[in-house]
Formats: sequence, C-alpha cells, structure tokens
Amino acid sequence: MIRIAVVGSSSMDLVVTSAKRPMAGETVLGESFITVPGGKGANQAVAAARLGAEVTMVGCVGDDVYGEIILENLKKNHVNTKYVEPVTGSASGTAHITLSEGDNSIIVVKGANDFITPEYVEKAKKVIEESDIVLVQQEIPEETVEYLAELCSTLQKRLLLNPAPARKLSEAVIQQASFLTPNEHEFEILFDGRDRTEVLTEYPNKLFITEGKNGVRYFDGHEEKVVPSFEVEAVDTTGAGDTFNAAFAVAVAEGKSFDESLLFANRAASISVTKLGAQGGMPQRFEVERGFE
Ligand code: ATP
Repeated sequence: MIRIAVVGSSSMDLVVTSAKRPMAGETVLGESFITVPGGKGANQAVAAARLGAEVTMVGCVGDDVYGEIILENLKKNHVNTKYVEPVTGSASGTAHITLSEGDNSIIVVKGANDFITPEYVEKAKKVIEESDIVLVQQEIPEETVEYLAELCSTLQKRLLLNPAPARKLSEAVIQQASFLTPNEHEFEILFDGRDRTEVLTEYPNKLFITEGKNGVRYFDGHEEKVVPSFEVEAVDTTGAGDTFNAAFAVAVAEGKSFDESLLFANRAASISVTKLGAQGGMPQRFEVERGFE
C-alpha cells in the first residue's frame, strides 16, 4: 500500500437553496439547508483513501461541532487523523454557500485552517518522511506551502502542489514542487497570462493543466499532449479537481507512467462528476479499474 500525506484544509460546507437571493438588509425564506464536509485538503485525502492509499491528513479543525463532524468523516473514510488537531478557541473552516437564481455565491471563512503554520507542519515531519508522495493545495497559509516545498525538496520527497485557489507562487516553490496541477484559470494567474505552450515546454512532465471535460494537457519532453477525459453525463463537477489530483498522486506513487497516471486520474475525476457533492462522487478503486463499459 502506498502512503500519502495531505497537508491541507478541511471545512464544513453550509449550503442553502433559496428562490431569491437577499439584498443587503433584507430577509428571505430559503427552501433547504444541508451541511457537507469539504475543503480541498480533506477532499483530496478522502479521494486518495478511496483509491486504496494509506492516507494521513495534516490539518486543523475548530473546537466546535463542525470540527467533530469533519474528523468523524475523515475517519469514516479511512484517513488517519492523528495530525488533525482541534484548535482551542477557533471555529472550523466553513464555506457558506447560497444556491439561488441559477447561480451560487460563496463566503469562505478559513477558521482553523489558518493555524496550519510551518511550525505545525514541522511537528508532522515524520509522516512526511514516511510518505511516498505529499499533496498540498492553497487553502492554507502561503508560508506553510513555502515551508513544505522546501522540506520536501530537502527530504527528496515528491510534492504535488495543486495551486488552488489561484495565488502567485515564488519561483523557488515552483522549482521545488515535483508536480503542479493548475486548472486553466489558475494557470493564467500563476504564469501572468503567458503563452501556454511556451510555459508547458519549460516544465516537462511537471506541469499538468486540467481543462475540465477536455481532460489534461502537458509537455512530455518531446511534444505537447492532451490526455482526454471520458464522456459522461456531468451532474456536479464540484471536487473534480480534487479527485483528479488525488488519483494522479496515487497512480504516480504506485509507479505508473505519466500517461497511465493521467488516464487513471481522468477516469476517476470523470466518474466523480456523475454524482452530487464533492466527496459524494469520489469513486472507490474498483470503480476506476472497471472504467466505463
Ligand atoms: P473543481 O474546482 O470543479 O473541483 P477544477 O476546476 O480544479 O475542478 P477541472 O479542470 O474542471 O478542475 O477538472 C479536473 C478534471 O476532472 C479534468 O481534467 C477531467 O478529468 C475531470 N472533469 C471535469 N469536468 C468533467 C466533465 N464535465 N466530464 C468529464 N470529466 C470531467
């Protein structure tokens, strides 16, 4: 079994549906309310565990009821939570989502995710040392991503940096990461709108741009390639990127070639969009291996 450490966020998504979006100062009656565990770190940890990896999450939750639910959900999905600590006096990360008038509006409150500091990650150094690959995203402080990139580089550990949400990265971090996986929008911000082919050529077998239903684009050292995704009826694409990143990490750590790993990741992510919810659609290993009949 391969080992994966995920350093990242966890949150509780609070989802309201309402026919009308309230204006400032207005109160409206909504129709439904659900809570769903989310956060890019937790999502990727759950996805990797479902695909058969031994996953340890490094993160923080609040000392509130959401923290308990987030931890319970990770455990239920066989993610090791030894390094997910409740922070006294802090709320858990939350995403306040209103689905209304055919669109969503979201307020994200980082809460305990802001406590995932370099010092905090340092305490989990052992789990990073023992892992085959490390996964990180950008819903945690910037200095923590920088620290982790440096640490992984020193330990010669492969680091998959999923630069989501978009934020500029230092050249050092870009160099230290083994894999960078922006979507098209994140790519634009990361590389200042530079020509895609030119940038891809600079980072062969390292920069993988996910392009939604079109699949993923990269440069293999000789030519630019697009590994297509699978044609499915998309019900909810939330978390497709998280499934893709986790699956790619699992496959690479298992020693699959890039082409095989991308195929595996595309297949897992394509399956994930056929069901509702970020974690709701994340497939089990056998589903990805079975593929599409
Ligand atoms: P999200 O933020 O919604 O989680 P993302 O923007 O980070 O996703 P995308 O590039 O949209 O990432 O999608 C990641 C991968 O998911 C794609 O490379 C593809 O494999 C798969 N995928 C996404 N949308 C679809 C779709 N409509 N049909 C099939 N596969 C899809």
